[in-house]
Amino acid sequence: RAKAEGRGSRAVYDPHRNEQQIARYALSTSMPAALERDEFVVEFQPLVGLADGRVRGAEALVRWRHRELGLLSPKRFVGLAEETGAIVPIGRRVLQLACRQAARWRIDDDPAPYASVNLAVSQFRDPGLVDDVVRVLEETGLEPGRLQLELAAGTVAAANAAPLRRLSALGVRLAVDDVGAGWANLGLLRELPVDVLKLSGGLVQRLTGAEPSEAESQILESLVTLGHALDLQVVAEGIETVEQHDRLRALGCDTGQGWYFAPALAPDDFIRYLPGSPAVASR
Ligand code: C2E
Ligand code: MG
Ligand code: MG
Ligand code: MG
Repeated sequence: RAKAEGRGSRAVYDPHRNEQQIARYALSTSMPAALERDEFVVEFQPLVGLADGRVRGAEALVRWRHRELGLLSPKRFVGLAEETGAIVPIGRRVLQLACRQAARWRIDDDPAPYASVNLAVSQFRDPGLVDDVVRVLEETGLEPGRLQLELAAGTVAAANAAPLRRLSALGVRLAVDDVGAGWANLGLLRELPVDVLKLSGGLVQRLTGAEPSEAESQILESLVTLGHALDLQVVAEGIETVEQHDRLRALGCDTGQGWYFAPALAPDDFIRYLPGSPAVASR
């Protein structure tokens, strides 16, 4: 490792960089024990139908309730967990927590909301994935149709198609996440059992920035059209303003997510967010 890092770098001692590496190392080695102590928790961000403003589901977003550092964002640790492989057991825990919560969700006169869970590409390559999902669905009693799995667009090419097909046959839905955030082989969308296209928040926000760009707007419009042509549901994430909301709704985007509606909520707060929900019996 030292050799690899030494290539092209100057022999200047950088105490700050060194400290950062020590902190990263400490964080990554403490993940297994943190998992044992149940420090990984999940929050839920509402997914809302743009045509009628009704809640359809929620995305499960992991946080690390660290003993010394407080509540850590996934941006701080998911990449590290992917490097060490810890993302596989952490992801399994997230799936369990998300399904357990989703099994409690109900809306009067509407279909019960679904949970959308992010999976790292290494989880999609893990031979135990399908069994894990089946076991969690059985344990929690959640209908397979109320579980959606998200796979980042940039990693679609590296995922194995076979487990995806098995999950799809069970009724679990697959969403491709962060479409428009980088280059991805969109042709794969026809080969994999994909149900949902999630347009990246970055793309959504450039739609109505200080200098709204015609090109950005056309890219977004094309992606909505592409998604619908492939018979996919199109979700826009990172909706922050009423202008963005109105533009996306006018473009025919099906579902929205973002601070305009609600941030990620603690499990009981999400239940309170559901219309007509009874008082929460905390557990
Ligand atoms: P993502 O899957 O694209 O999730 C959306 C992110 O956008 C979340 O950040 C969410 O809090 C944030 N967000 C929501 N609404 C808005 C908005 O209106 N404006 C802006 N600027 N941001 C908004 P978060 O929770 O920090 O998660 C970051 C990323 O970490 C996620 O991006 C996902 O890639 C990853 N992640 C989160 N949970 C998990 C997990 O359980 N497993 C894996 N493998 N990755 C996860
Ligand atoms: Mg996601
Ligand atoms: Mg996303
Ligand atoms: Mg995003």
